[in-house]
Amino acid sequence: MKQFLKKAETVYIRHVGILTVLSLCLSLAVFAGCAARQPEPLKSVDTGMGTIISQTIYMTRQGEKALRTQEEEDAGKSYVTEGDVPPAEEILSLIGDMEQNLLSWRISGSEICYVNSQAADGQDRITLSRELSDIMETCLLISAASDGAFDITLGQVTRLWNIDEWSGSDKTGYEPPIEEELLTALSQSGSRFVSLQGNTLCLSKRVQLDLGAVGKGAALQVILKYLQEKEAQGKLEGAVISVGGSILTYGRKPDGGSWKVGIINPGDTSRNLGYLDLSGQWCISTSGDYERFVEVDGVRYHHIMNPATGYPACSDVSSVTILSKDGLLSDALSTACFVLGVDKGEKLAEEFGAEALFVDKNGQLHMTEGMEEYFRLSN
Ligand code: AMP
Ligand code: MG
Repeated sequence: MKQFLKKAETVYIRHVGILTVLSLCLSLAVFAGCAARQPEPLKSVDTGMGTIISQTIYMTRQGEKALRTQEEEDAGKSYVTEGDVPPAEEILSLIGDMEQNLLSWRISGSEICYVNSQAADGQDRITLSRELSDIMETCLLISAASDGAFDITLGQVTRLWNIDEWSGSDKTGYEPPIEEELLTALSQSGSRFVSLQGNTLCLSKRVQLDLGAVGKGAALQVILKYLQEKEAQGKLEGAVISVGGSILTYGRKPDGGSWKVGIINPGDTSRNLGYLDLSGQWCISTSGDYERFVEVDGVRYHHIMNPATGYPACSDVSSVTILSKDGLLSDALSTACFVLGVDKGEKLAEEFGAEALFVDKNGQLHMTEGMEEYFRLSN
């Protein structure tokens, strides 16, 4: 591991939730667009999965020609046209489907919501869809490899903290949970109470699942498959899709340039510390204490919990970025490595063939050896 001595600035910006994501999108847009020649990329910014989704998509000439015309769009004739639906729309609906049908514990009708209600009723064997059992299998693997630092059974704990409500601008009146409630919730949490037999989930406690740590990365895997199909049809050149803190790069830019993914400075989220210089397909996920937090009486509580205590993790890390070919892995590992801290986190990332870049609490950078090939410091 190499330690960079360049110090990040330590000025903290308070209202960073949405600003952070916007600045990430902006930096992506600037990087992805600066050297583009014909055909121009299709660009869009939307919301989904409780975050901002930014897309830059380079179609081939053939792909552009196959798109529905703007006149057809304007006339609302989508049901009669033979033209392709714009890819950004299809990707948004793939993300929406995942959230609503599979992963959100808040949306009744999602599979996770169903599993949680069955678990609360005391069911100890629940049959899962193939899609969910595949995701759970990876999550349980990372739970075991991280000694429980990564834990998708923290649903009762994260609900007590009410993390989802923190994204609003008005956080006045917020009170952290009281310790007894947390201890009770913790006694019902833990991956050791959960196992998979094929696609049957076996529970020995009434745990509640929270897959918030992997939802965006799981979405990247579905988007990757979609982009691969478009490329196989000769319609796609390349794309950068950002779903909150998880980003997928795919294919090529028509001008042959590389994908440049900015790494936010946790001490000043309006700036990048540097960027990853990438070619082809990669998944990049960042977990940071600046992404979602609330402050009460001068104490800052962020959204990544230490499963051993039920409180926000206090490692030596302010942010960690994982680079992997697999989005589920990059997202799960970024959360796990944040909790584990630099030394253990680096080992965990390497165990799964991923690269890691940490910004520690002093603003210093630490990275796996393989990451040095891709990381460039900002001037
Ligand atoms: P991320 O931003 O990808 O690191 O994911 C953070 C989200 O995952 C939180 O908002 C919680 O929903 C959930 N979470 C918090 N702590 C953990 C943890 N230690 N292991 C797994 N999921 C967690
Ligand atoms: Mg994550």
